[in-house]
Amino acid sequence: MTLISKPNREADLFRSAFHYAPIGMALVDLDGRIMVANPSALVMLGYEEKELYSKTYEHITHPDDLEEDNRYVKQLLRGEIDTYQMQKRYFKKTGETVTVLLSVTLVYDKEENPLHFISQMMDISEKTQAVHEVKQLTKHITTILESISDAFFSLDEEYRFIYTNKAAQTLFRKSDEELTGRNIWELYPWLVDSVSQIECKLAMQFREQRLYEQFVPLLNDWFEANLYPSEFGLSVHFRQITERKRTADKLLESEKSFRLLAENSSDMISKHDQNGLFTYVSPACYTLLGYRDDELIGKSPFHLYHPDDMQRMLDNQELLYTHVDENTITYRIRRKDDSYRWFETTRRVVFNEGDRTQTIVAVSRDITPRKEIELKMLEQYQLMHALSHTDELTGIANRRTFDETWNHEWEDAQRHHMPVTLMLGDIDNFKAYNDTFGHQKGDECLRQIAAAMRAALKRPLDIVARYGGEEFGIILPQTSKERAATIANRLLEAVRQLKLPHSQETDHPYVTISLGSATWNPDCSLSQDELFTHADKSLYQAKDEGKNRYISH
Ligand code: GH3
Ligand code: MG
Ligand code: MG
Repeated sequence: MTLISKPNREADLFRSAFHYAPIGMALVDLDGRIMVANPSALVMLGYEEKELYSKTYEHITHPDDLEEDNRYVKQLLRGEIDTYQMQKRYFKKTGETVTVLLSVTLVYDKEENPLHFISQMMDISEKTQAVHEVKQLTKHITTILESISDAFFSLDEEYRFIYTNKAAQTLFRKSDEELTGRNIWELYPWLVDSVSQIECKLAMQFREQRLYEQFVPLLNDWFEANLYPSEFGLSVHFRQITERKRTADKLLESEKSFRLLAENSSDMISKHDQNGLFTYVSPACYTLLGYRDDELIGKSPFHLYHPDDMQRMLDNQELLYTHVDENTITYRIRRKDDSYRWFETTRRVVFNEGDRTQTIVAVSRDITPRKEIELKMLEQYQLMHALSHTDELTGIANRRTFDETWNHEWEDAQRHHMPVTLMLGDIDNFKAYNDTFGHQKGDECLRQIAAAMRAALKRPLDIVARYGGEEFGIILPQTSKERAATIANRLLEAVRQLKLPHSQETDHPYVTISLGSATWNPDCSLSQDELFTHADKSLYQAKDEGKNRYISH
């Protein structure tokens, strides 16, 4: 083991300190050339050792920082200063800049001649970056705070204003200078002992965020304050909420008047949630249906509806939620005693302010007496309508129905460009029948022929009416001349098949009819009256040619 001599040990210590120093270190000769640099400096500047030795410090210094650096170097060389420090930027090998805090010292030899410079460099890029970011952020936050319409201000621990935004200055009716540094309670003594002071003290003392509402009589406004305690004191966000307060009050008012109305109304008033379940039922429910409110709340009204009305009620509810705001529906509802009552309910969808859910408010009225009269009238009307449109003797359509239908089908044919056939029928030698068998038998014969003809018409659209005494009118919508012929033959055959014995005076043993028709189609120019005349002529022709036949025009 060899002992290292003292000077060697010192040199070694210096070398390892130089080598392992966490800051950049370099020796620079008097011409500015870099003689040696430690690994930290190499990393900082991004050069290999050898690449750096061919360069002077001027080569790698940012031009804007060079003049200051050179001035210091000259002062060092002239012996005016021993050392200097400056913040400067170097160019890294990659071209990026690195900001360093530079300390330079000039080293002399034993004869006091300048030997070289020792430079120490501390990378402060990250720090400058961070400072820059903080500055940007502060600027950003300040811009936001200045532009918001809510007041924002900060107080220190002694409740002195540190920061006020524009809105806060307006609120306090003082400028930034007038506020900053002043104690809020001294400036505004009327706030002392108010909820503001109590809340601020609580926030400060317990370091907890607080929220409170306050009416400021001086401004005639309601405010909401958020208090945020921090290391330096308290930040306050002060927001005017007068509008919100008034709406809330109005809501409360309207809820009160709703109750007043509902509780005293003879109509049943109910509220339903978005699933249709009862959330409120007014006392009239007990009188009308026999249920107390607690028997219905939380339940669906659907189990009370008449089965025949169920689908209609479902459709109606769906419609109410999706398409309309309000509607009225009439339906049957089951009382507690199991009898049904007719209800007329008007329902309205109301959107709840806060959560956008829907509530349905329903007003229901028992309309059973009215409904019963209505139903009786409807029944009567239907009966009268049927009577006024039916032939009394035969039970088939009467002349009125024939006229109405004929006008309607005629227009329909014109509109849709579809053919229509009008057919007229007449019993052959009916006078003789009456004369032989009597009028009553004649009526019976008429009835049977009418029934046979009606049965022979298969389509619901086709009608046969008793047009006159023993004459029939047959309307065949959407029927061409060809198809009409088929139907006519079926009618003739149907009557023949009845085999009603006829008077000896006639050529035929059984009662027959004659038919004549006219067909309108889109390429014919006949008027409605002309068509009728043609049908009538055809019937005459059938009679002329020997009866028991069909002629078409
Ligand atoms: P045609 O073959 O040329 O038709 O000879 P017709 O004898 O049937 O002559 P017409 O059609 O003119 O005869 C009408 C007769 O029909 C007159 C009347 O006695 C009889 N008649 C008309 N309406 C009724 C009725 O409601 N009941 C009865 N029993 N007979 C009627
Ligand atoms: Mg006749
Ligand atoms: Mg006749």
